[in-house]
This record gives sequence, C-alpha cells and structure tokens, in this order.
Amino acid sequence: MKTKEKILNRVILRFPSLSENERFARLAVSGFVSALDPAVDEISEIKTAVSEAVTNCIVHAYRDRVGEIKMEVRLLEGCRLYISITDRGCGISDIGKAREPLFTTAPDEERAGLGFAIMESFTDTLRVRSSPGRGTTVTMLRTLRTKRTAHDTRS
Ligand code: ATP
Ligand code: MG
Repeated sequence: MKTKEKILNRVILRFPSLSENERFARLAVSGFVSALDPAVDEISEIKTAVSEAVTNCIVHAYRDRVGEIKMEVRLLEGCRLYISITDRGCGISDIGKAREPLFTTAPDEERAGLGFAIMESFTDTLRVRSSPGRGTTVTMLRTLRTKRTAHDTRS
C-alpha cells in the first residue's frame, strides 16, 4: 500500500510461526496503539485482525514447517494505523477466491473461512499481495478514533 503520509512511529518485529506467537503479536500491536488511548473496542478489533493474519501465516503459509513472520506497525499522521504482516510461505494462488467469506482450504481443521472477512470488517483498507511459492503480505489501514495527537503521546 503506497502511503505518502509521514511516519510518526514504527515498529518492525520478526518472529517464528509458532502458535504462541499469535498471542505475542496481539499484545505487541495492543501495546503500540495504547499510547494513543484508543477505545477498548477499537483495540480489541485491531488485535483480532492481527490475530487472523498471523494465524493464517502459522496454519496456511507455513503449514508443514516453521518460518519467519514479519509484522510492521506504523503510526501515520491523522491517527492512521498501518499494519503489514508478511510470510515467505506457500503463497495464495487465487486471492479473490481466498478473500470470499466461507472459503477455506482447510475445512477438515474446523476453519470457517472467515479470517479475511474479519480483517476486512475491522479495518478501513485491506490489501493482500501474494505469490505462490514465495509468500504473502497482508496490509491493513485503520484510522483510530482517538482524539490524542502524536505530540500528546510524547509527554
Ligand atoms: P478461518 O480464518 O476462519 O479459521 P481460513 O483461515 O481458512 O479460516 P481465511 O483466513 O479467510 O480463512 O483464509 C482463506 C484461505 O486463504 C485459507 O483457507 C488459505 O487457503 C488462504 N490463506 C490465507 N492466508 C494465507 C497465507 N498467509 N498463506 C497461504 N494461504 C493463505
Ligand atoms: Mg484464517
């Protein structure tokens, strides 16, 4: 996602695709946005969207192995939150199909096929870029309702 906005804060994390790191990713993004005093429901929605993206890396991208997940979180001007989650796993051959609600390639594992639909509903913009055999990047943008400015967070 091309963004010309000034980056006010940025954190990049890299971690292995272990299931316990899904919780770590949720807590990390929550910690990042907490300085802005967002509403509780807003934090919860952002954590859920991150959780869905990271879980997809763990259960789909690196289905038979452990690989690296990169998560980047940026605070942009205008209280815009940018989150990207990247894997170098199996990739998605048909992104349009994968984004359809209820579509899943893992029905036997009690997957509902709702991860992308949840990410979409909890963000303003969701972009998915993928290349089979090379990996996937999911990028989410959301404007926070917080009234605090970036300047306030420095105090
Ligand atoms: P749920 O999220 O409800 O447990 P799901 O993971 O199958 O089920 P989505 O998150 O919407 O549903 O993903 C749809 C499909 O897209 C997946 O079944 C999988 O085939 C593919 N997919 C999603 N993310 C990735 C990824 N990072 N790498 C490879 N394939 C992916
Ligand atoms: Mg999913």
